[in-house]
Amino acid sequence: VPVDMARLGAKVRFDTVAGVAEVLAEVDFSIDGPDGYPVFDLRQDVGAACLDGRQVPPEALAHSDLGAGWDARARVVDLILEAGSWHRLELSYRLGRPEAEAAKGIDWDTTAGGVSWDLGMSDLSPGRYLESWFPANLCHDSLAIELSIEVGGTSRPHLVLANGDVEERKPGRSWEVRYPARFTSLSPLLSLCPADRAEVLTRGPVTVALLPGARADAAHVAADTSAWLAYFSARYGPPAHGEGFLALIWGEARGMEYDGATTAPEPALEHEVFHSWFGRGVKPASARDGWVDEAVATWATASRRAGGSRFLVEELGLDEPPAILCPPHPWSRHTPGEAYATGARLLAGVAHMAGGAAALRAALASWHEAHAGRAASTEDLARHLSSWCGRDLKPWWDRYVYGEITAEACS
Ligand SMILES: [Zn+2]
Repeated sequence: VPVDMARLGAKVRFDTVAGVAEVLAEVDFSIDGPDGYPVFDLRQDVGAACLDGRQVPPEALAHSDLGAGWDARARVVDLILEAGSWHRLELSYRLGRPEAEAAKGIDWDTTAGGVSWDLGMSDLSPGRYLESWFPANLCHDSLAIELSIEVGGTSRPHLVLANGDVEERKPGRSWEVRYPARFTSLSPLLSLCPADRAEVLTRGPVTVALLPGARADAAHVAADTSAWLAYFSARYGPPAHGEGFLALIWGEARGMEYDGATTAPEPALEHEVFHSWFGRGVKPASARDGWVDEAVATWATASRRAGGSRFLVEELGLDEPPAILCPPHPWSRHTPGEAYATGARLLAGVAHMAGGAAALRAALASWHEAHAGRAASTEDLARHLSSWCGRDLKPWWDRYVYGEITAEACS
């Protein structure tokens, strides 16, 4: 049964001499359905566990394939808990590389007393949101998150960058980070590194940090980010994340969006800033709905993964190859790679039916206004765009989102 998590609190202590990070985490949750076995996830090896103050063996929190494949496995508590009841789960463990596809671990520099760590999330594989590192719910649930970070065994000052409130307790070595209660498991950005490894620049509400390998000028990045924030605010409405924005630029090819923040290579910045309206402003109701974010961002920004140009308008019949953008199983937890090009192609067709690119931008602004700061589903978007196009888009959704060949297409 699904749980409703109200709060996650975790203390992480990095020992730069031993190259070990120890975690104490606690989550408060209620049972959000009938009596049953609660589901959550954590892609780390649990050392010890307590439920409601009583020790439970880690095997009682083992992963299960819930039907969407082993990649999308989740932990199932081997105890029946009553509908509506409240519980506290406490876990202790050592942080290792998350057990999820393409996940990276902690980068230790034990000789120079340094540690670099990034939550490093991804939509493309299951288990790559907050559950990579901490006990967390799946991404439909909002929860208050409080992280306490401490770096020990070194006099080298470190830096924490996050899209929450960061309170530095001991300069360069301990921090409390609190994220807003509207955040879900795909919202928080946190990056820790030796302070001498990052160049940080704040210009008004925009903070830019250049991480090792970044090929960019911090002032230029701040200027571009400010311009995109102003344009998206004017066109799609005030952002749910508020005024501030945190842009971490790194040397890796991939970028990731967070609420009012990104970690990205410089060329991906516009796409990632846009996600603070679509993806992390209007959030996916479940991980299966994540295709919407990439389809919209690819259609509306200068994205390298787009098949056509930005704001493409192109008639779309029901005779192009079908595609599965929304995986069918309810416990599926990934965005298929086709979401970018095929999703943008679908939106180019919707723009044609809506009366042009400006009409689709207006439809997206109204979509953002209706759902900013909350979740919306694949079906919600079909209904919304159908009303803007003055026709039922179900046959297009069936073929290009759910991969079904409709009778109409066969006839
Ligand atoms: Zn994206």
